[in-house]
Amino acid sequence: MSRFVGRTLRGRLTILYGVLLALALALYAVGTSVYLLRDLRKQQDASLDREIETVEGLIALSPDGGIELRSEEGEAREGVSERGYLLEIWTADGKPMFLSEGLDGSSLGPPPDLTQKPFDRSPHTYRLRNGTRVRAAARRHGIEGRVLLLRLAVSEEPLWDEFWDMVSVLAIGLPVMVLLIGFAGYAVAGQALQPVEEMAQRARKISAESLNDRLTIQNPGDELGHLGLAFNETLARLEKSFEQLRRFTADASHELRTPLTAIRSVGEVALQNTGDAAYYRDIIGSMLEEVNRLTRLVESLLTMSRADAGQIQLQRTTVEVLDLAKESAALLEVLAEEKHQTIIVDGDPSLTVRADRLILRQALINLIDNAVKYSPSGEDIEVRVRAIGKDVLIEVRDNGPGISAEHADKVFQRFYRIDKARTRAEGGTGLGLSIVEWAVSANGGSVELNPGLGPGCTFTIRLPLDTQESTAQNA
Ligand code: ADP
Repeated sequence: MSRFVGRTLRGRLTILYGVLLALALALYAVGTSVYLLRDLRKQQDASLDREIETVEGLIALSPDGGIELRSEEGEAREGVSERGYLLEIWTADGKPMFLSEGLDGSSLGPPPDLTQKPFDRSPHTYRLRNGTRVRAAARRHGIEGRVLLLRLAVSEEPLWDEFWDMVSVLAIGLPVMVLLIGFAGYAVAGQALQPVEEMAQRARKISAESLNDRLTIQNPGDELGHLGLAFNETLARLEKSFEQLRRFTADASHELRTPLTAIRSVGEVALQNTGDAAYYRDIIGSMLEEVNRLTRLVESLLTMSRADAGQIQLQRTTVEVLDLAKESAALLEVLAEEKHQTIIVDGDPSLTVRADRLILRQALINLIDNAVKYSPSGEDIEVRVRAIGKDVLIEVRDNGPGISAEHADKVFQRFYRIDKARTRAEGGTGLGLSIVEWAVSANGGSVELNPGLGPGCTFTIRLPLDTQESTAQNA
Protein backbone atom coordinates (compact mmCIF):
# COMPACT_ATOMS: atom_id res chain seq x y z
CA MET A 1 0.00 0.00 0.00
CA SER A 2 2.73 2.46 1.04
CA ARG A 3 4.71 1.65 -2.13
CA PHE A 4 1.59 2.26 -4.18
CA VAL A 5 0.90 5.54 -2.38
CA GLY A 6 4.51 6.67 -3.01
CA ARG A 7 4.22 5.86 -6.71
CA THR A 8 1.14 7.94 -7.43
CA LEU A 9 1.33 11.71 -7.72
CA ARG A 10 -1.51 11.94 -5.24
CA GLY A 11 0.42 9.83 -2.69
CA ARG A 12 3.65 11.72 -3.25
CA LEU A 13 1.92 15.08 -2.81
CA THR A 14 0.27 13.89 0.40
CA ILE A 15 3.54 12.53 1.81
CA LEU A 16 5.40 15.71 0.88
CA TYR A 17 2.81 17.98 2.46
CA GLY A 18 2.52 15.65 5.47
CA VAL A 19 6.28 15.80 6.06
CA LEU A 20 6.37 19.57 5.61
CA LEU A 21 3.41 20.01 7.93
CA ALA A 22 4.97 17.69 10.55
CA LEU A 23 8.25 19.65 10.37
CA ALA A 24 6.44 22.99 10.69
CA LEU A 25 4.34 21.75 13.60
CA ALA A 26 7.38 20.20 15.32
CA LEU A 27 9.18 23.53 15.00
CA TYR A 28 6.12 25.28 16.37
CA ALA A 29 5.91 22.79 19.27
CA VAL A 30 9.59 23.25 20.20
CA GLY A 31 9.23 27.04 20.01
CA THR A 32 6.08 27.03 22.09
CA SER A 33 7.63 24.72 24.73
CA VAL A 34 10.79 26.84 25.03
CA TYR A 35 8.68 29.98 25.30
CA LEU A 36 6.39 28.38 27.88
CA LEU A 37 9.30 27.17 30.01
CA ARG A 38 10.90 30.62 29.97
CA ASP A 39 7.58 32.23 30.84
CA LEU A 40 6.90 29.84 33.73
CA ARG A 41 10.45 30.45 35.04
CA LYS A 42 9.95 34.20 34.82
CA GLN A 43 6.68 33.97 36.75
CA GLN A 44 8.24 31.71 39.36
CA ASP A 45 11.27 33.96 39.75
CA ALA A 46 9.03 37.03 40.12
CA SER A 47 6.92 35.37 42.81
CA LEU A 48 10.14 34.18 44.51
CA ASP A 49 11.31 37.81 44.53
CA ARG A 50 8.04 38.98 46.06
CA GLU A 51 8.05 36.18 48.61
CA ILE A 52 11.63 36.82 49.72
CA GLU A 53 10.73 40.46 50.34
CA THR A 54 7.75 39.37 52.44
CA VAL A 55 9.94 36.96 54.36
CA GLU A 56 12.49 39.72 55.00
CA GLY A 57 9.65 41.72 56.62
CA LEU A 58 8.80 38.80 58.88
CA ILE A 59 12.27 38.03 60.20
CA ALA A 60 12.80 38.93 63.82
CA LEU A 61 15.44 38.01 66.40
CA SER A 62 14.07 36.05 69.33
CA PRO A 63 15.28 36.90 72.82
CA ASP A 64 17.52 33.80 72.83
CA GLY A 65 19.35 35.16 69.72
CA GLY A 66 17.50 32.77 67.39
CA ILE A 67 15.26 33.60 64.47
CA GLU A 68 11.50 33.81 64.44
CA LEU A 69 9.08 34.88 61.77
CA ARG A 70 6.28 37.23 62.75
CA SER A 71 4.45 40.25 61.39
CA GLU A 72 5.22 43.78 62.52
CA GLU A 73 2.04 43.73 64.53
CA GLY A 74 3.32 40.60 66.12
CA GLU A 75 0.55 38.45 64.66
CA ALA A 76 1.34 34.86 63.98
CA ARG A 77 1.68 34.39 60.27
CA GLU A 78 1.40 31.29 58.22
CA GLY A 79 4.96 29.94 58.09
CA VAL A 80 6.90 29.88 54.84
CA SER A 81 6.96 26.09 54.93
CA GLU A 82 3.19 25.92 54.83
CA ARG A 83 3.21 27.87 51.61
CA GLY A 84 5.76 25.50 50.08
CA TYR A 85 8.85 27.68 50.56
CA LEU A 86 12.13 26.62 52.16
CA LEU A 87 14.15 29.16 54.09
CA GLU A 88 17.82 29.20 55.05
CA ILE A 89 19.38 31.92 57.22
CA TRP A 90 23.06 32.33 58.07
CA THR A 91 25.02 34.78 60.11
CA ALA A 92 27.41 37.08 58.23
CA ASP A 93 30.29 34.70 58.99
CA GLY A 94 28.39 31.77 57.51
CA LYS A 95 26.99 30.05 60.62
CA PRO A 96 23.54 28.52 60.03
CA MET A 97 20.83 30.13 62.16
CA PHE A 98 17.69 28.78 60.58
CA LEU A 99 16.87 25.88 58.28
CA SER A 100 13.32 25.01 57.22
CA GLU A 101 12.11 21.55 58.13
CA GLY A 102 11.75 20.55 54.52
CA LEU A 103 15.52 20.86 54.10
CA ASP A 104 16.06 17.81 56.34
CA GLY A 105 18.83 19.54 58.29
CA SER A 106 21.13 20.27 55.39
CA SER A 107 21.31 23.50 53.42
CA LEU A 108 21.05 23.77 49.63
CA GLY A 109 24.74 24.54 49.47
CA PRO A 110 27.34 26.82 51.05
CA PRO A 111 25.95 30.18 52.20
CA PRO A 112 25.95 33.00 49.65
CA ASP A 113 29.28 34.78 49.44
CA LEU A 114 29.01 38.15 51.17
CA THR A 115 32.22 39.46 49.66
CA GLN A 116 30.99 39.23 46.09
CA LYS A 117 30.20 42.59 44.56
CA PRO A 118 27.55 43.11 43.44
CA PHE A 119 25.74 40.62 45.61
CA ASP A 120 24.13 37.93 43.43
CA ARG A 121 20.36 38.27 43.97
CA SER A 122 19.32 36.34 40.87
CA PRO A 123 17.58 32.98 41.38
CA HIS A 124 19.46 29.72 40.76
CA THR A 125 18.38 26.11 40.50
CA TYR A 126 19.50 23.57 43.17
CA ARG A 127 18.74 19.96 43.99
CA LEU A 128 17.52 18.77 47.33
CA ARG A 129 18.98 15.59 48.77
CA ASN A 130 15.87 13.70 47.67
CA GLY A 131 16.51 14.86 44.11
CA THR A 132 13.77 17.51 43.99
CA ARG A 133 14.75 20.52 41.94
CA VAL A 134 14.23 23.88 43.63
CA ARG A 135 14.63 27.46 42.56
CA ALA A 136 16.27 29.71 45.15
CA ALA A 137 17.17 33.38 45.53
CA ALA A 138 19.48 34.94 48.17
CA ARG A 139 19.38 38.28 50.02
CA ARG A 140 21.56 40.14 52.46
CA HIS A 141 19.38 41.33 55.33
CA GLY A 142 20.29 43.80 58.05
CA ILE A 143 18.47 43.52 61.40
CA GLU A 144 19.22 45.22 64.64
CA GLY A 145 22.76 46.09 63.52
CA ARG A 146 23.50 42.54 62.36
CA VAL A 147 23.85 41.31 58.79
CA LEU A 148 22.10 38.06 57.98
CA LEU A 149 22.20 36.02 54.83
CA LEU A 150 19.01 34.39 53.74
CA ARG A 151 18.05 32.11 50.88
CA LEU A 152 14.48 31.25 49.97
CA ALA A 153 13.74 28.24 47.74
CA VAL A 154 10.64 26.83 46.15
CA SER A 155 10.13 23.54 44.37
CA GLU A 156 10.27 23.55 40.59
CA GLU A 157 8.08 20.43 40.42
CA PRO A 158 4.81 22.30 39.69
CA LEU A 159 6.59 24.26 36.95
CA TRP A 160 7.91 21.10 35.34
CA ASP A 161 4.52 19.37 35.77
CA GLU A 162 2.85 22.21 33.89
CA PHE A 163 5.58 22.14 31.26
CA TRP A 164 5.35 18.36 30.70
CA ASP A 165 1.53 18.57 30.61
CA MET A 166 1.82 21.05 27.78
CA VAL A 167 4.49 18.93 25.99
CA SER A 168 2.27 15.82 26.24
CA VAL A 169 -0.69 17.69 24.81
CA LEU A 170 1.48 18.80 21.90
CA ALA A 171 3.11 15.38 21.48
CA ILE A 172 -0.23 13.63 21.23
CA GLY A 173 -2.19 16.40 19.49
CA LEU A 174 0.24 17.27 16.71
CA PRO A 175 0.70 13.76 15.19
CA VAL A 176 -3.08 13.32 15.32
CA MET A 177 -3.42 16.65 13.53
CA VAL A 178 -0.81 15.64 10.91
CA LEU A 179 -2.66 12.37 10.33
CA LEU A 180 -6.04 14.07 9.99
CA ILE A 181 -4.68 16.75 7.65
CA GLY A 182 -2.82 14.02 5.73
CA PHE A 183 -6.05 12.09 5.14
CA ALA A 184 -7.87 15.27 4.20
CA GLY A 185 -4.99 16.24 1.85
CA TYR A 186 -5.07 12.78 0.25
CA ALA A 187 -8.80 13.18 -0.39
CA VAL A 188 -8.40 16.73 -1.76
CA ALA A 189 -5.47 15.70 -4.00
CA GLY A 190 -7.59 12.81 -5.29
CA GLN A 191 -10.40 15.21 -6.08
CA ALA A 192 -8.05 17.67 -7.79
CA LEU A 193 -6.34 14.98 -9.87
CA GLN A 194 -9.57 13.25 -10.88
CA PRO A 195 -9.62 15.02 -14.29
CA VAL A 196 -6.12 13.64 -15.05
CA GLU A 197 -7.34 10.11 -14.41
CA GLU A 198 -10.32 10.74 -16.68
CA MET A 199 -8.08 12.20 -19.37
CA ALA A 200 -5.76 9.17 -19.18
CA GLN A 201 -8.70 6.76 -19.59
CA ARG A 202 -10.05 8.73 -22.52
CA ALA A 203 -6.62 9.05 -24.14
CA ARG A 204 -6.13 5.27 -23.85
CA LYS A 205 -9.24 4.74 -25.97
CA ILE A 206 -8.05 7.04 -28.76
CA SER A 207 -6.53 5.10 -31.64
CA ALA A 208 -5.62 5.83 -35.27
CA GLU A 209 -9.26 5.16 -36.18
CA SER A 210 -10.69 7.57 -33.64
CA LEU A 211 -8.25 10.46 -33.91
CA ASN A 212 -11.18 12.85 -34.22
CA ASP A 213 -12.01 12.11 -30.59
CA ARG A 214 -11.02 14.82 -28.10
CA LEU A 215 -10.52 15.00 -24.34
CA THR A 216 -13.25 16.66 -22.32
CA ILE A 217 -11.78 19.67 -20.54
CA GLN A 218 -13.60 20.75 -17.41
CA ASN A 219 -11.67 23.92 -16.70
CA PRO A 220 -9.59 25.23 -19.61
CA GLY A 221 -8.11 27.96 -17.37
CA ASP A 222 -6.23 25.75 -14.91
CA GLU A 223 -3.02 23.75 -15.35
CA LEU A 224 -4.85 20.50 -16.10
CA GLY A 225 -6.98 22.38 -18.61
CA HIS A 226 -3.77 23.59 -20.34
CA LEU A 227 -2.51 20.01 -20.44
CA GLY A 228 -5.79 18.81 -21.94
CA LEU A 229 -5.81 21.61 -24.53
CA ALA A 230 -2.22 20.84 -25.52
CA PHE A 231 -3.14 17.17 -25.85
CA ASN A 232 -6.16 18.03 -28.00
CA GLU A 233 -4.01 20.26 -30.21
CA THR A 234 -1.54 17.39 -30.65
CA LEU A 235 -4.43 15.11 -31.55
CA ALA A 236 -5.68 17.64 -34.10
CA ARG A 237 -2.21 17.83 -35.69
CA LEU A 238 -1.94 14.03 -35.69
CA GLU A 239 -5.37 13.72 -37.23
CA LYS A 240 -4.40 16.20 -39.93
CA SER A 241 -1.16 14.41 -40.79
CA PHE A 242 -2.89 11.01 -40.73
CA GLU A 243 -5.52 12.42 -43.06
CA GLN A 244 -2.84 13.87 -45.36
CA LEU A 245 -0.99 10.58 -45.36
CA ARG A 246 -4.15 8.65 -46.11
CA ARG A 247 -5.06 11.01 -48.95
CA PHE A 248 -1.52 10.96 -50.29
CA THR A 249 -1.44 7.15 -50.34
CA ALA A 250 -4.86 6.95 -51.98
CA ASP A 251 -3.97 9.61 -54.58
CA ALA A 252 -0.57 8.07 -55.26
CA SER A 253 -2.09 4.61 -55.78
CA HIS A 254 -4.67 6.11 -58.10
CA GLU A 255 -2.02 8.00 -60.07
CA LEU A 256 0.11 4.87 -60.39
CA ARG A 257 -2.82 2.76 -61.50
CA THR A 258 -3.72 4.99 -64.47
CA PRO A 259 -0.49 4.54 -66.49
CA LEU A 260 -0.31 0.86 -65.47
CA THR A 261 -3.85 0.29 -66.77
CA ALA A 262 -2.92 2.09 -69.98
CA ILE A 263 0.20 -0.09 -70.45
CA ARG A 264 -1.82 -3.27 -69.81
CA SER A 265 -4.67 -2.40 -72.15
CA VAL A 266 -2.29 -1.29 -74.95
CA GLY A 267 -0.40 -4.57 -74.49
CA GLU A 268 -3.58 -6.69 -74.46
CA VAL A 269 -4.89 -5.05 -77.62
CA ALA A 270 -1.55 -5.60 -79.35
CA LEU A 271 -1.57 -9.27 -78.32
CA GLN A 272 -5.00 -9.82 -79.83
CA ASN A 273 -4.09 -8.15 -83.12
CA THR A 274 -1.44 -9.04 -85.62
CA GLY A 275 0.40 -6.27 -87.37
CA ASP A 276 3.58 -5.26 -89.06
CA ALA A 277 6.76 -3.90 -87.49
CA ALA A 278 5.49 -0.28 -87.67
CA TYR A 279 2.36 -1.28 -85.73
CA TYR A 280 4.42 -2.90 -82.94
CA ARG A 281 6.84 0.04 -82.86
CA ASP A 282 3.87 2.31 -82.37
CA ILE A 283 2.55 0.12 -79.56
CA ILE A 284 5.96 0.00 -77.85
CA GLY A 285 6.24 3.78 -78.28
CA SER A 286 2.97 4.46 -76.46
CA MET A 287 3.87 1.93 -73.76
CA LEU A 288 7.22 3.71 -73.24
CA GLU A 289 5.37 7.01 -73.00
CA GLU A 290 3.34 5.60 -70.11
CA VAL A 291 6.53 4.16 -68.56
CA ASN A 292 8.09 7.66 -68.77
CA ARG A 293 5.06 9.09 -67.02
CA LEU A 294 5.34 6.39 -64.35
CA THR A 295 9.04 7.12 -63.91
CA ARG A 296 8.36 10.85 -63.50
CA LEU A 297 5.59 10.14 -61.03
CA VAL A 298 7.70 7.73 -58.98
CA GLU A 299 10.60 10.21 -58.95
CA SER A 300 8.30 12.99 -57.76
CA LEU A 301 6.81 10.72 -55.12
CA LEU A 302 10.30 9.79 -53.95
CA THR A 303 11.33 13.47 -53.74
CA MET A 304 8.20 14.27 -51.73
CA SER A 305 8.52 11.41 -49.31
CA ARG A 306 12.24 12.03 -48.74
CA ALA A 307 11.46 15.70 -48.18
CA ASP A 308 8.70 14.75 -45.71
CA ALA A 309 11.06 12.45 -43.86
CA GLY A 310 13.66 15.24 -43.69
CA GLN A 311 16.17 13.04 -45.51
CA ILE A 312 17.23 15.66 -48.02
CA GLN A 313 20.36 17.47 -46.87
CA LEU A 314 20.67 20.93 -48.39
CA GLN A 315 24.06 21.90 -49.83
CA ARG A 316 23.86 25.65 -49.68
CA THR A 317 26.16 27.67 -51.86
CA THR A 318 26.09 31.14 -53.36
CA VAL A 319 23.87 30.90 -56.41
CA GLU A 320 23.83 33.49 -59.20
CA VAL A 321 20.11 33.63 -59.81
CA LEU A 322 20.00 34.87 -63.41
CA ASP A 323 22.55 32.26 -64.39
CA LEU A 324 20.43 29.55 -62.76
CA ALA A 325 17.26 30.81 -64.49
CA LYS A 326 19.05 30.67 -67.87
CA GLU A 327 20.30 27.14 -67.18
CA SER A 328 16.77 25.95 -66.21
CA ALA A 329 15.23 27.58 -69.28
CA ALA A 330 17.85 25.96 -71.50
CA LEU A 331 16.83 22.52 -70.24
CA LEU A 332 13.25 23.16 -71.44
CA GLU A 333 14.25 24.81 -74.70
CA VAL A 334 13.44 21.72 -76.78
CA LEU A 335 9.93 21.38 -75.32
CA ALA A 336 9.27 25.09 -75.90
CA GLU A 337 10.52 24.91 -79.47
CA GLU A 338 8.10 22.07 -80.19
CA LYS A 339 5.31 24.52 -79.27
CA HIS A 340 6.97 27.43 -81.07
CA GLN A 341 7.50 29.24 -77.80
CA THR A 342 10.48 31.32 -76.69
CA ILE A 343 11.60 31.44 -73.10
CA ILE A 344 12.85 34.97 -72.46
CA VAL A 345 15.13 35.24 -69.44
CA ASP A 346 16.37 38.61 -68.23
CA GLY A 347 17.23 40.57 -65.10
CA ASP A 348 20.07 41.68 -62.85
CA PRO A 349 23.04 39.28 -63.25
CA SER A 350 24.65 40.39 -59.98
CA LEU A 351 21.89 39.05 -57.72
CA THR A 352 22.82 36.02 -55.64
CA VAL A 353 21.12 33.91 -52.98
CA ARG A 354 22.35 31.27 -50.51
CA ALA A 355 20.60 28.12 -51.64
CA ASP A 356 20.93 24.51 -52.70
CA ARG A 357 21.48 24.98 -56.44
CA LEU A 358 19.99 21.66 -57.59
CA ILE A 359 16.86 21.91 -55.47
CA LEU A 360 16.23 25.53 -56.47
CA ARG A 361 16.79 24.55 -60.11
CA GLN A 362 14.16 21.82 -59.75
CA ALA A 363 11.65 24.45 -58.56
CA LEU A 364 12.42 26.69 -61.52
CA ILE A 365 12.24 23.80 -63.98
CA ASN A 366 8.81 22.81 -62.64
CA LEU A 367 7.48 26.38 -62.99
CA ILE A 368 8.88 26.89 -66.50
CA ASP A 369 7.71 23.40 -67.50
CA ASN A 370 4.15 24.25 -66.38
CA ALA A 371 4.30 27.54 -68.25
CA VAL A 372 5.36 25.73 -71.42
CA LYS A 373 2.80 22.93 -70.93
CA TYR A 374 -0.23 25.09 -70.20
CA SER A 375 0.46 27.97 -72.64
CA PRO A 376 -0.85 27.70 -76.18
CA SER A 377 1.59 27.34 -79.10
CA GLY A 378 3.45 30.47 -80.05
CA GLU A 379 3.00 32.21 -76.67
CA ASP A 380 6.29 33.27 -75.16
CA ILE A 381 7.30 32.66 -71.55
CA GLU A 382 9.08 35.27 -69.50
CA VAL A 383 11.46 34.67 -66.61
CA ARG A 384 12.56 37.82 -64.77
CA VAL A 385 15.06 38.19 -61.95
CA ARG A 386 15.05 41.38 -59.86
CA ALA A 387 15.57 42.60 -56.31
CA ILE A 388 13.04 44.28 -54.07
CA GLY A 389 14.40 45.45 -50.75
CA LYS A 390 16.31 42.54 -49.22
CA ASP A 391 14.65 39.92 -51.44
CA VAL A 392 15.39 38.45 -54.82
CA LEU A 393 12.27 37.81 -56.94
CA ILE A 394 12.16 35.25 -59.74
CA GLU A 395 8.98 35.69 -61.77
CA VAL A 396 7.80 33.08 -64.26
CA ARG A 397 5.09 34.56 -66.45
CA ASP A 398 3.06 32.93 -69.21
CA ASN A 399 0.14 33.80 -71.45
CA GLY A 400 -1.79 30.60 -70.95
CA PRO A 401 -5.32 30.14 -69.62
CA GLY A 402 -4.32 31.40 -66.17
CA ILE A 403 -5.55 30.07 -62.84
CA SER A 404 -8.75 31.46 -61.38
CA ALA A 405 -8.84 32.71 -57.78
CA GLU A 406 -10.87 29.70 -56.59
CA HIS A 407 -8.02 27.35 -57.58
CA ALA A 408 -5.16 29.70 -56.72
CA ASP A 409 -4.56 28.51 -53.16
CA LYS A 410 -5.22 24.86 -53.98
CA VAL A 411 -2.80 24.31 -56.87
CA PHE A 412 0.08 23.86 -54.42
CA GLN A 413 -1.68 20.88 -52.82
CA ARG A 414 -0.44 17.44 -53.74
CA PHE A 415 -2.19 15.88 -56.77
CA TYR A 416 -4.41 18.93 -57.18
CA ARG A 417 -5.21 19.59 -60.82
CA ILE A 418 -7.64 22.05 -62.28
CA ASP A 419 -8.51 20.02 -65.34
CA LYS A 420 -7.62 16.44 -64.59
CA ALA A 421 -8.05 14.97 -68.05
CA ARG A 422 -6.14 17.77 -69.75
CA THR A 423 -3.22 17.95 -67.36
CA ARG A 424 -2.79 14.18 -67.39
CA ALA A 425 -2.72 14.39 -71.16
CA GLU A 426 0.02 17.04 -70.80
CA GLY A 427 2.01 14.50 -68.79
CA GLY A 428 1.60 16.23 -65.40
CA THR A 429 1.80 14.34 -62.15
CA GLY A 430 -0.05 16.88 -59.97
CA LEU A 431 3.03 17.07 -57.74
CA GLY A 432 5.01 19.76 -59.59
CA LEU A 433 3.86 22.78 -57.58
CA SER A 434 4.01 20.91 -54.24
CA ILE A 435 7.65 20.21 -55.01
CA VAL A 436 8.19 23.89 -55.94
CA GLU A 437 6.69 25.00 -52.61
CA TRP A 438 8.83 22.57 -50.63
CA ALA A 439 12.03 23.38 -52.58
CA VAL A 440 11.63 27.13 -52.12
CA SER A 441 10.69 27.04 -48.45
CA ALA A 442 13.55 24.59 -47.73
CA ASN A 443 15.84 27.33 -49.09
CA GLY A 444 14.29 29.93 -46.80
CA GLY A 445 11.97 31.50 -49.37
CA SER A 446 8.34 31.49 -50.45
CA VAL A 447 6.38 31.09 -53.65
CA GLU A 448 3.15 32.76 -54.59
CA LEU A 449 0.80 32.87 -57.50
CA ASN A 450 -0.55 36.13 -58.92
CA PRO A 451 -3.45 34.99 -61.02
CA GLY A 452 -5.13 38.29 -61.71
CA LEU A 453 -2.51 39.98 -63.90
CA GLY A 454 -4.07 39.87 -67.34
CA PRO A 455 -4.13 36.65 -69.34
CA GLY A 456 -1.94 33.84 -68.10
CA CYS A 457 -0.41 33.76 -64.66
CA THR A 458 2.76 34.67 -62.82
CA PHE A 459 4.48 32.52 -60.22
CA THR A 460 6.89 34.48 -58.02
CA ILE A 461 9.67 32.90 -56.02
CA ARG A 462 10.96 35.18 -53.24
CA LEU A 463 14.32 34.43 -51.61
CA PRO A 464 16.47 36.45 -49.20
CA LEU A 465 19.20 38.32 -51.06
CA ASP A 466 22.74 37.15 -50.34
CA THR A 467 23.88 40.67 -49.38
CA GLN A 468 27.55 39.84 -48.68
CA GLU A 469 28.19 38.39 -52.11
CA SER A 470 26.25 41.15 -53.95
CA THR A 471 28.09 43.89 -52.06
CA ALA A 472 31.43 42.24 -52.79
CA GLN A 473 30.61 42.09 -56.48
CA ASN A 474 29.33 45.68 -56.63
CA ALA A 475 32.43 47.02 -54.83
P1 ADP B 1 0.99 19.02 -62.92
O1 ADP B 1 2.06 18.04 -62.86
O2 ADP B 1 -0.35 18.44 -63.16
O3 ADP B 1 1.30 20.19 -63.78
P2 ADP B 1 1.36 20.90 -60.79
O4 ADP B 1 1.36 20.69 -59.32
O5 ADP B 1 2.61 21.39 -61.41
O6 ADP B 1 0.86 19.56 -61.41
O7 ADP B 1 0.20 21.90 -61.08
C1 ADP B 1 -1.05 21.74 -60.52
C2 ADP B 1 -2.14 22.25 -61.46
O8 ADP B 1 -2.09 23.67 -61.51
C3 ADP B 1 -2.00 21.78 -62.84
O9 ADP B 1 -2.63 20.55 -63.02
C4 ADP B 1 -2.68 22.86 -63.64
O10 ADP B 1 -4.09 22.64 -63.68
C5 ADP B 1 -2.43 24.11 -62.83
N1 ADP B 1 -1.30 24.90 -63.35
C6 ADP B 1 -0.03 24.88 -62.92
N2 ADP B 1 0.73 25.77 -63.59
C7 ADP B 1 -0.09 26.37 -64.48
C8 ADP B 1 0.07 27.42 -65.46
N3 ADP B 1 1.28 27.99 -65.70
N4 ADP B 1 -1.01 27.80 -66.16
C9 ADP B 1 -2.21 27.24 -65.95
N5 ADP B 1 -2.45 26.26 -65.04
C10 ADP B 1 -1.41 25.84 -64.31
